[in-house]
Amino acid sequence: MNSDYSGCSPARAVSSATLLDLLHSLPEPVLFLDASGLLIAANAACADLSPRGATAFSPGTDFRRVCAALFPPALAAAAALGVTEVVSGRRNVFVAETCISRREQHLWFSLRAVRTQDPGMHTVVSLTDITRQKHLEEHLQHDAFHDTLTGLFNRAYFIGRLERAINRCKTDPARQFAVLYLDIDRFKLVNKTFGHVTGDRLLMVAANRLLKAAGERDTLARFGGDEFAVLVDEAAGPDEAAAAAERIIFRLTPPFTLRKQQISVTVSIGVVLGTSAYSHPDDILRDADTAMYSSKEHGGNHFTLFESGMRVSTARRMEMELDLCTALQSGEITVYYQPIVSLLSGRITGFEALARWRHPRYGMIPPLEFIPVAEETNLINVLGELVLRRACEQLTDLSKKFPDAAGMCMNVNISARQFRQPDFAEGIRRILAETGVAPGRLCLEVTESMLLEDAASSVTTMRALKDLGIKVVIDDFGTGYSSLSYLQRFPFDSLKVDRSFVCSMTETRQNREIIRTIIAMAENLGLKVVAEGVEMAEHRDMLMALRCEFAQGFLFSEPLDAERLETFLENRAGDMAPPS
Ligand code: C2E
Ligand code: MG
Ligand code: MG
Repeated sequence: MNSDYSGCSPARAVSSATLLDLLHSLPEPVLFLDASGLLIAANAACADLSPRGATAFSPGTDFRRVCAALFPPALAAAAALGVTEVVSGRRNVFVAETCISRREQHLWFSLRAVRTQDPGMHTVVSLTDITRQKHLEEHLQHDAFHDTLTGLFNRAYFIGRLERAINRCKTDPARQFAVLYLDIDRFKLVNKTFGHVTGDRLLMVAANRLLKAAGERDTLARFGGDEFAVLVDEAAGPDEAAAAAERIIFRLTPPFTLRKQQISVTVSIGVVLGTSAYSHPDDILRDADTAMYSSKEHGGNHFTLFESGMRVSTARRMEMELDLCTALQSGEITVYYQPIVSLLSGRITGFEALARWRHPRYGMIPPLEFIPVAEETNLINVLGELVLRRACEQLTDLSKKFPDAAGMCMNVNISARQFRQPDFAEGIRRILAETGVAPGRLCLEVTESMLLEDAASSVTTMRALKDLGIKVVIDDFGTGYSSLSYLQRFPFDSLKVDRSFVCSMTETRQNREIIRTIIAMAENLGLKVVAEGVEMAEHRDMLMALRCEFAQGFLFSEPLDAERLETFLENRAGDMAPPS
């Protein structure tokens, strides 16, 4: 309830007949009181206010009794006092806001002294319906703190709660809390594959599942896109925070059935324990974000508890960004080669070129660490061209030294950004001409997700490459969402079964069946199959039994630098595929 007395001067005297005419013409409830607070007249709109209808407003009724019947007790008492004060002349005006809960109606109640030619008529009471304004106000307040898609709280609200938790922890360090920051892995791919409507549906269902995973006192918010945050109000230590993260992973693991399609997603979670050392929400969110990125490196459904050492790795990443430019000029980027063998003949049929960075301070940095940095900093085109040129030169060099190597292919990995360059095919043609490699001996490795980014222009680039006679292979097959349709749409020559399927092949019959199905499907589409990550003789034997034609993996050879590759080939001179 909200009440206010103010000292306005009374209205100029008008005739009571004029006022009564006006009263009955008004659409809103208005009443007149005499100098003792008794009702003189009420218009027809008043009847709607009371279950007793117009009889509740009969002339002569004490308006204080009407208030007691109409309003909640607190306002009824204040209104009764207001009536007494205004009719006695101690106040000119009394206003209050109230709600008639029976009708879910919000009213603006006002008493105002009037001066008429009739000394008996003293006070005018009006009750204005402000329900719509009230709802609009509530709506605006709701929108300011909620995410429109999922109905969860938004970032602004979350930060407010986090601030409270920080302050509480400062005054009572025993009351620790935890922040979980989560991101749906490869959500962009869901949107690209199934469309934004399905992507939005997935976020809505995920939000519901998250609500079930969160505790009653926890605050759950969507920060935008596929990022959510949970404030675990009271987390005594890392075990409780870890349990909260596990609950989330458990809830989000079952596939989502959306528009008759089953979609599985994984999440990466960063966890920060809120201690009294933190003073600002931004610091906690920054650390949670760092921990979340660290989780991403584990390939999904993983949570990482933030440790201060992780700030160093963020710093290292920034350092890497700065260093990469010099590395490309100073020869720190080098290329390793991993042989690809034919399982039918046991011979080496080609190599995959794999980039390596020999960092002066950090030693050998694997491509999974620096390729994303190169992509973000736009250095990937320079890096990609360097690898491509080096690999082609290497193939020419090997062909000169080992006549049997003349028929071998060189596989080179290509990033999305490289592939999207308008003159990509032309650039490759130039490198092939300059290094003397026949187009048919170059095989570019692309991933499904990469083609999805701009399917129409990808088809054009693929055609241009095919016209030049260059081969294209789909890498990490089975890790995307739309494998089948893309196999038909793009003119691939072969597919590489992802390592995850190969290494789990020995575990269950079901996993073996997946590879069998991929091989059968590839055969029907006229594609060659290369199994990646073959580490054990058991894998090789199973793949041979499934009639998989090519393989690559530590069992045959790890990736080798140019020098070791030559030694390897010298020792296996008879195992090279003859020129085709
Ligand atoms: P990828 O194209 O799928 O390459 C195969 C990866 O599996 C390589 O990791 C290789 O060393 C590893 N590998 C091969 N056999 C085995 C095995 O038996 N067991 C296990 N556990 N691993 C095996 P690497 O060299 O770390 O490369 C990782 C990824 O980085 C590559 O995956 C590729 O996507 C990317 N990459 C590497 N070089 C380049 C490049 O020049 N350009 C671009 N755009 N990406 C590259
Ligand atoms: Mg590859
Ligand atoms: Mg691969």
